[in-house]
Amino acid sequence: MALSLLPHWWGRSIFEIDPAALARRGITLLLADLDNTLVPYGVPGPTAEVRAWKEALAAAGVTLFILSNNRHPQRPERFANALGTPFLGHAGKPKPGGFYRAMEQIGCTPEHTAIVGDQIFTDILGGRNAGVLTLLVEPIRLAGNPGRYLRYAAEWPFRILAKRRSRPL
Ligand SMILES: [Mg+2]
Repeated sequence: MALSLLPHWWGRSIFEIDPAALARRGITLLLADLDNTLVPYGVPGPTAEVRAWKEALAAAGVTLFILSNNRHPQRPERFANALGTPFLGHAGKPKPGGFYRAMEQIGCTPEHTAIVGDQIFTDILGGRNAGVLTLLVEPIRLAGNPGRYLRYAAEWPFRILAKRRSRPL
């Protein structure tokens, strides 16, 4: 079992991530995948709950930064502007380059950075490659694209193990 495919923490959704707990671990930058992590695919802007969570992170001293593989030229930008966060689209996860660019932009090091995402082979593997804390959540909605079910099925053994090994933040 490749350790690089296992997250440090597993939760049902981003709302199980306690900003104060992240801050206690020394995390000041939280990179977040967009599609199916913050909102479902196709939802153009943040919900009230996502806005409140971002504010709670900020209050705990944690900057939220959207790191998305979405190739649509405006999707990550529009969402990030509506939420008031920095962002990087077309990030190329699981390659670590996008992670490094995001950390450089904020002036943060891997020791103080975490990634949260719904996909093991992009978000978690990328976070491991970049040496940051990795947080896996369940995809918000699989419906709409058969490829998402296939990917989820491929991730299943790692998700089971992630869930079993997850420790509180
Ligand atoms: Mg995603």
